[in-house]
Amino acid sequence: MNNKTDLLEKYLQMILEANNRVNLTRIDSIEQARILHLEDSLVTLPEMKSAPEGLYGDLGTGGGFPGVPLAITTGRETILVDSVKKKMAIVESILDQMNLSSQIKTYAGRIEELSLEKKGNFSVLTARALTQLPSLIELAAPLLKKGGQLICYKANVSEEEMKAALDIDELVGMKQTSQRELTLSDGVTHREIIVFTKTGKPKLKLPRRIGLAQHSPLKPRS
Ligand code: SAH
Repeated sequence: MNNKTDLLEKYLQMILEANNRVNLTRIDSIEQARILHLEDSLVTLPEMKSAPEGLYGDLGTGGGFPGVPLAITTGRETILVDSVKKKMAIVESILDQMNLSSQIKTYAGRIEELSLEKKGNFSVLTARALTQLPSLIELAAPLLKKGGQLICYKANVSEEEMKAALDIDELVGMKQTSQRELTLSDGVTHREIIVFTKTGKPKLKLPRRIGLAQHSPLKPRS
């Protein structure tokens, strides 16, 4: 099995099958999964293609989305990150069975821990349904090399959320470089794709203590 379309379909089937045993995703029909997992994951192919070459990471990957579809389609060396060990064990075993585990690795741990081990190693990161933009850019900054990009999948971004991110982007060494909106083929699922690029060194020591990025987001220095 090496056709990419077959691999993508096979991965969906295996995830849905595993979902009967462990809760990996709320989506449980293959028809829904084709849109909300596959089509949605792949909407950022243009952003992925224009990101610098090199290591790709999916932050808070859950059942492997958008990480696995993007890894299969782009062929990039990939690390999927999630702190829930049970989820990562299942995703890893599926990737193993599909002979994908030399290209796509899993890391069962916190993003903050990975950034101590792999500081500045990543060229591109994605995050879907993980956390608010200010927390995302703080978590991503220490993992990215200069020029590396964080691609955020959002359903809706309020003005406050965007402003809070733009208030601290310089502090963490990131800058917003693009934003676009789209609707998936179901005609109802709205997406905003927002890209931040690492522009320089953070002005504070990152990562902060585990949990702080999400529980106590950075505020601008006055
Ligand atoms: N990206 C997937 C899953 C979203 S749920 C999808 O869109 O389907 C968010 C996931 O992020 C959860 O599985 C949770 O365990 C993980 N997560 C949240 N904060 C994290 C952190 N700091 N480090 C690692 N994983 C985290």
